[in-house]
Amino acid sequence: MKRGKFVSIQEKLSGVIFSNYFRLGLIISGFICLMVLRQTSKTFGVSLGYVYIVLISLAGIWFGLKGGVISAAFAVAIFLIEVEIHPSWPARDMVLRGTAFRLIVYFLSGLILGYVSELQNKLSQEIRYLAYHDKLTGCVNYTWIVEFLEKEIARSRRFIKEFSIILIDIDHFKAINDTYGHLVGNDALVAFAGVIKANLRNMDIIGRYGGEEFLIILPELGSNGALEVLERIRVKLAEARITSRHLKEGIGISLQFSAGVASFPYNANNANDLIKLADDVLYQAKQKGRDRVLVELRRCVRLKPQKGLRVEMAGLPDKEKLKIIRVENISERGMSFLSPHDILDKEFLCRISLPGEEFTPEFICRVAHKSRLDRAVYRIGIYFVDIPAYVRATLFHFIHQIES
Ligand code: GH3
Ligand code: MG
Ligand code: MG
Repeated sequence: MKRGKFVSIQEKLSGVIFSNYFRLGLIISGFICLMVLRQTSKTFGVSLGYVYIVLISLAGIWFGLKGGVISAAFAVAIFLIEVEIHPSWPARDMVLRGTAFRLIVYFLSGLILGYVSELQNKLSQEIRYLAYHDKLTGCVNYTWIVEFLEKEIARSRRFIKEFSIILIDIDHFKAINDTYGHLVGNDALVAFAGVIKANLRNMDIIGRYGGEEFLIILPELGSNGALEVLERIRVKLAEARITSRHLKEGIGISLQFSAGVASFPYNANNANDLIKLADDVLYQAKQKGRDRVLVELRRCVRLKPQKGLRVEMAGLPDKEKLKIIRVENISERGMSFLSPHDILDKEFLCRISLPGEEFTPEFICRVAHKSRLDRAVYRIGIYFVDIPAYVRATLFHFIHQIES
């Protein structure tokens, strides 16, 4: 606790010290101190005048070219007034002789330091931009889109939300390069990314995943939402006639794409698996003839049940409970277990008790698959049909707590 407080005070202090108001105040009070000092101790007149250069340089470094020039002009004005109002000043003649030189030094220090600081700021901004972005399309780059995906998984897990990703790849893009040239290809890529961006929400993120392949993260959207987004992009892309300054006038290119959609947590619960599944369905979309979107359907977040989770199957016609040898894996949408009984009914009741939870929710289940492992053991896969939202959320939370 104490450490937290200490850090926050330290942070606040450094925030104040590095704020522009503080810096401006420092420079202005520096000028005032110098003026007073020079008035009170005239013997230091000549050498003290050069201390203005320190203030001008600081203004240049902190406020760029404008800051450097303004403070140089300010120093020149003060200097001239001082010399003028002290005709009896012993060093006056000496100072006057060096006036032109002094003025040049003031302005040069302001200009040079201001320029260098602006250049440095611009360069560091560009380096920072390039560290996060793809320069051609302005989308975030591979490293960052994967980083964002990890963050979105953590966020969605924390707030029990779903989200979808889309891997989208331009069809026959190589032919565009081969026909019109690489520069036209570049312009087509920029236009393609532009159409996608224009049809995403503020919270969505698009990253350049590879050459002509993009990864889109759609927070809080399931696969149906992702399909709607893709349909919007498809329509807008069909309407757009992509031109380039490297193309003859009147020629427009049309682009088509294939895409694969996967959702968290339905299809996968980590970034690698999610991308792999989206890539798998994208590959299938290409195989099936391109210009289409496929959604991953495989369910894969199924975890080993942990201590404290109890499952009962009831509602069987003979009013008996179904004996469960072992629950193999469970998700918030279904489970797979081993039982000595062969279930003949398609539907029955499932009761789940979670550790630390008072209530034992009951809901209908349906058999999804069944196989006989040996003479007295069946593996049964069921899915939860009418599981209430709050039970699903609790179960989801419980499963993901176990996992993380
Ligand atoms: P498919 O429908 O199977 O995706 O075919 P495709 O031609 O789009 O895919 P392929 O992987 O064969 O070719 C991708 C091409 O994208 C090859 C590469 O030259 C081009 N490419 C990748 N990055 C850039 C880029 O930044 N600019 C340009 N102009 N072309 C690029
Ligand atoms: Mg392609
Ligand atoms: Mg590709």
